Amino acid sequence: MTLSEAAGRGWDAVVVGAGPAGSAVAHGLARLGHDVLILDRAAFPRDKVCGGCLSATGLRTLARLGLTPPETHVPRRRPGHLVLRAGDAVATLPLRGGVVVARSDLDDFLLRTAIDAGASFVTATAGRAPDAGTAGDEPPDHRIIPARSRGVMHAVRTRLLVWAAGLGAAATDTGDRVTTRSRIGLAALVPAGVPRAPVNGVDMHCGQGGYLGLVELPDGRLNAAAAFDPRWVRRCGGPAAAAAAVLEACGVPPRPELAAARWQGTPALTRHARRVAACRLLIVGDAAGYEEPFTGEGMGWALAAAHEVIPLAAAAIDGWSPRIAAAWRQATRRRHARTRRCRIAAWLLRHPAALRVTLRAIAAGPVLARPILDGWCGGPAAETTS
Ligand SMILES: Cc1cc2nc3c(=O)[nH]c(=O)nc-3n(C[C@H](O)[C@H](O)[C@H](O)COP(=O)(O)OP(=O)(O)OC[C@H]3O[C@@H](n4cnc5c(N)ncnc54)[C@H](O)[C@@H]3O)c2cc1C
Repeated sequence: MTLSEAAGRGWDAVVVGAGPAGSAVAHGLARLGHDVLILDRAAFPRDKVCGGCLSATGLRTLARLGLTPPETHVPRRRPGHLVLRAGDAVATLPLRGGVVVARSDLDDFLLRTAIDAGASFVTATAGRAPDAGTAGDEPPDHRIIPARSRGVMHAVRTRLLVWAAGLGAAATDTGDRVTTRSRIGLAALVPAGVPRAPVNGVDMHCGQGGYLGLVELPDGRLNAAAAFDPRWVRRCGGPAAAAAAVLEACGVPPRPELAAARWQGTPALTRHARRVAACRLLIVGDAAGYEEPFTGEGMGWALAAAHEVIPLAAAAIDGWSPRIAAAWRQATRRRHARTRRCRIAAWLLRHPAALRVTLRAIAAGPVLARPILDGWCGGPAAETTS
């Protein structure tokens, strides 16, 4: 379908963003018999700045959504260990329950499944952030979504907008509050077959300017994902140099393959959404606020939000009520309260001395790792080395 065809009729729901949150919501609504249109500015399959660790909770939520991917469509690896390094401190934690996937595979599978359930999809189309001009004097029974494809702007009419565009919209467009010292996400994929040293599982390297995770994807590619202070990246001379500096600070041999790779970035990571619901608008996933990705739970959080919003979205299509917005604000606040361990980890990561002490304590008593790391690929089992 083209955007001009999509704009020629009205929709029950338009979902902007075909990441895990958007595709899961679109799938859930299409299964309930609603007319759903998905817009994404990317062409699929596409890669995404991400560590690719799907937690056990994320896997369980996929099952609850009826979206468990078959291994033939989304190959997975069990990483076995999480190796945490900060300076000369090292802790090795056995991981269980979660898997490593390629985002190109997982997101494509979720989008295809939503389409199979009856949703329509228009690719390479950017929806305009809901704060930038749609909230004006529109009639209360629908919303108009301005969207651009191949340089041409169209207006799409819908009973409900689900904004699931991740960190895609600039905070200035959405009015989100970005934490002053927020880091940015960076990632590079090294093709299979490029000579390189092996990784041990999920290998995390923490340093002054941020942290870098390395993991091997099921197809043999090396996935490097980092959260760095943008000023520090500039001082180092770019993402590859920043990654090399973190490896060096951890006493790890250089990885020339990262210098040759193409790095992709994200805007500021830590942000608080000014609003998560308004008349005929529900905001889900990273777009509704985001912490740092250290504990590898973002996909799980996005899927959990999708699972929770589907009944509210279905009710909103039947008839909007301010009670729906209130319920979604409350549900979002509840979910954000559960990101506490990620905030603790983010604090530790900004205090290298405290982090080294923590790693040594974890090495001595693995049970201490649980509160911080439980979400990561299913959480560590009780065996730690240093
Ligand atoms: C460095 C880093 C490492 C991470 N590692 C992990 C990890 O190991 N495990 C984990 O679970 N999570 C991890 N995350 C977090 C995870 O990637 C996100 O939390 C998750 O992808 C959120 O899903 P989403 O559906 O909300 O948004 P996204 O997955 O970001 O999807 C948003 C979609 O919206 C589209 N879009 C954006 N703007 C527009 C627009 N204006 N119009 C149309 N389409 C638009 C984009 O193309 C994209 O397809 C990491 C994040 C970073 C930055």
